[in-house]
Amino acid sequence: MQIFRKLGWFFRQEKKAYIIGITALLLVAIVQVVPPKVIGIVIDEIADQNMSMQKIVTWVIVLVIMAILQYLLRYLWRKNIWGSAALLEKTLRKQLFHHFTKMDHQFFQTHRTGDLMAHATNDLSAIQKVAGEGILTFADSLITGGSTLIAMILFVDWRLTLIAVIPLPFLALVARILGSKMHEAFRDSQEAFSDINDKAQESITGIKVIKTFGQEKEDLADFDNKVAQAIVKNKRVYLLDSLFDPFITLIIGISYVLTIILGSHLIMNNELTIGELVSFISYIGLLVWPMFAVGRLFNVLERGSASYDRVQILLQEKTHIIEAQVPVVTKAAGKIKYGVNKFLYPEEKVANLQNIHFELEPGETLGIVGKTGAGKTTLIKLLLREFDNYAGEITWNGVNIKDYALDSFLPQIGYVPQDHFLFSMTVADNIRFANQEASMEQVEKAAQLADVHEDILGFSNGYQTMVGERGVSLSGGQKQRLSIARALLVNPELLILDDALSAVDAKTEETILQNLKQLRATQATIIVAHRLSSVMHAKEIIVIDQGQIIERGNHHELLANGGWYAKMYYKQQLEAKIEGGE
Ligand code: ADP
Repeated sequence: MQIFRKLGWFFRQEKKAYIIGITALLLVAIVQVVPPKVIGIVIDEIADQNMSMQKIVTWVIVLVIMAILQYLLRYLWRKNIWGSAALLEKTLRKQLFHHFTKMDHQFFQTHRTGDLMAHATNDLSAIQKVAGEGILTFADSLITGGSTLIAMILFVDWRLTLIAVIPLPFLALVARILGSKMHEAFRDSQEAFSDINDKAQESITGIKVIKTFGQEKEDLADFDNKVAQAIVKNKRVYLLDSLFDPFITLIIGISYVLTIILGSHLIMNNELTIGELVSFISYIGLLVWPMFAVGRLFNVLERGSASYDRVQILLQEKTHIIEAQVPVVTKAAGKIKYGVNKFLYPEEKVANLQNIHFELEPGETLGIVGKTGAGKTTLIKLLLREFDNYAGEITWNGVNIKDYALDSFLPQIGYVPQDHFLFSMTVADNIRFANQEASMEQVEKAAQLADVHEDILGFSNGYQTMVGERGVSLSGGQKQRLSIARALLVNPELLILDDALSAVDAKTEETILQNLKQLRATQATIIVAHRLSSVMHAKEIIVIDQGQIIERGNHHELLANGGWYAKMYYKQQLEAKIEGGE
């Protein structure tokens, strides 16, 4: 019952719908005790040979009116109660999704995507059930059950009622016992189902790796094993189900038997008419559903309550990136001063970045190079405000980046990450992702600058070709260039290419770099790269190793220096020559 209190805010908010819905349920309960009574009366009149055409017509009219009333009232409660339940699911879904979009990287690192998806689907539907089925079964077991019992006593006989209801509490009891077993069995089977889903998803995504390593047989065996487990768990659900349903028939059967024994005795003593016994037997039929409802009620409430708690825990998690109380709303632009003395990822013990200082004026390009795992992306993450817990200060136009309103800050940066992401939409929409208003001309211009225009024209539907699972498959280089076009379209104050040219050939890289040079004459650019040709032209290049700057200067200075950069440069030149077949 606690869950009703937890959802109190929603029931108060939807007070009107629930009042109408529950009133309709109440009226249905009253209206539906009328037909059995009428049928009893008609039978008695027939038995007494008292029936006339006029009476038959009257009773038929009464029955038809009751049927129509029931129809309307049932429509009314369904609309209001199911409707409100759907609204609750929508409200929670929106809350949860908004929450997800606000959360920082740490959140997504600690929660697996599969888990978050489960919260957004299974848990929300369990909570939705409380507001729909939960309310219905609660009201139904009390109202329908109560009104039927009252009708039995008032219209027929209290002794008969007493006898008939004796077996019913057993039903509620068994429902409760089997219900909790059912709950566990159902949860296990759901988990087994999730397992199969996860496995299928992983195998399909990783099919290339599976095939390359000849692991099909093993993978298949693993999958079969999971399916077998799921079958065992599902069988248990069906077993419990098949134990319960016949039990209802049994209990109701006992009720009928007891009723008939006592009923015929009363009839013989002239204390009951045949019609009344017929009415009474119909009433027993009406009690079946409320009995079911009691059993179901606990189940629904229990699951809903557990799910509600799980969702609340997620909703209460706070993002670590918090906007300043009085944020600066002028759009970020101008000189960037990067000064990070020390940064550690949460849970790390050794500094991931140390003493990184540089300045970047509009129109300038900064190159960042270094081994894999040196800390280049980490450096960028701090600039993108993915983490705020570093010692030092990063300013843009003299303002600490933590003081900017996120909306005045992030849109000023065009970030092309290593692991580019394209959405399942058209090529054109993928490019205009950050600016939905962009014209086709602007989209094409951006594609030309990223040297991907010709490729796009070669696709079956040009710019309208679908990208993604059901669309065209793009090469790594094409994906990278589309991502660059997406960033260029918004003409950002700061463009960051994070190893974003790794999959394009040397010639294409040169074309794009040439285009950037012209395009970015008045704005800042940061290029993180493995291939040194990507950063050669930069005003300053910093070489990072183990989170620290080990060399810095322009291309010529670094070559003269004879350090890591110079060695790497000659090595890469040699490789290029060998690859070029020279
Ligand atoms: P690069 O971009 O130079 O290849 P990264 O900046 O990605 O290097 O990584 C620098 C170091 O930080 C690596 O040792 C990496 O393992 C570690 N690291 C990266 N991301 C995280 C994270 N989210 N949590 C903890 N450590 C991380």
